Amino acid sequence: MVGVLALQGSFLEHLKMLRQIGVDVREVRLPEQLENLDGLIIPGGESTTIGKLAVDFGLLEPLREFGKERAIWGTCAGAILLSKDARRDQPLLELMDITVERNAFGRQIASFEIDLEIPALKEVSNEDAPFHGVFIRAPLIDSVSGKAKVLASLPDGRIVAARQGHLLATAFHPELTDDDRVHRYFINMVIEKLAS
Ligand code: GLN
Repeated sequence: MVGVLALQGSFLEHLKMLRQIGVDVREVRLPEQLENLDGLIIPGGESTTIGKLAVDFGLLEPLREFGKERAIWGTCAGAILLSKDARRDQPLLELMDITVERNAFGRQIASFEIDLEIPALKEVSNEDAPFHGVFIRAPLIDSVSGKAKVLASLPDGRIVAARQGHLLATAFHPELTDDDRVHRYFINMVIEKLAS
C-alpha cells in the first residue's frame, strides 16, 4: 500500500492516478497512518504550509524515519520538502542531497508546460514519447550532490527531476496529466526498496 500525504495540495490527483494503475492507497495525515506503508508521495501545494502542518501534526520526524527505510516521491512542493536546502528557513525533511530554488520561474512564466525527455521512463514503457511536464510556480533543483542523480532537465540544462536511491523529486506535476509513467516508475522504486 502506498500513502499520499494529504495535509494540503494536489493529493487527490495522486490518489486517483495510483488507483488507476491498481495500487492500494491511503491518505496520510497522522504519524500512525505511515505504519505498514510501502511508499509515500508528498504532493505539490505550498511547501511552507505542508511543512508547518507536518510540524503541527507531529509528522516531521516520523516522515524522516520513513524516508530512511521506504520510497518517497515529492512533486513540486513535495520535492522542496525532500531537499536538504531550500535557501529559506522552513521545515524540510532534508532527505535528499539536492538544493532547490523555490518559485524559480518568476511571475510571468510562473506556470508553463513543456515536453521533457526522461530516459529513465524506458524502464516502464517501450514508448519513447516525451513526458508532458506541467509546472506550477515550480521550484528548480539547482544542484544535486552526493548520491543524487539527475533524471530530467529543461532544454537549457536546468534540473527538474532527480533520484537518490529510493527517493524521487520532480519539480513538475505528473498527477495533473493522463500519463502514468512516472507513477509506474515510482511504484518500481517502491518494490525495489522493499526487496532490498
Ligand atoms: N510554489 C510552491 C512552493 O514553493 C510550490 C508549488 C507547487 O507545488 N505547485 O512551495
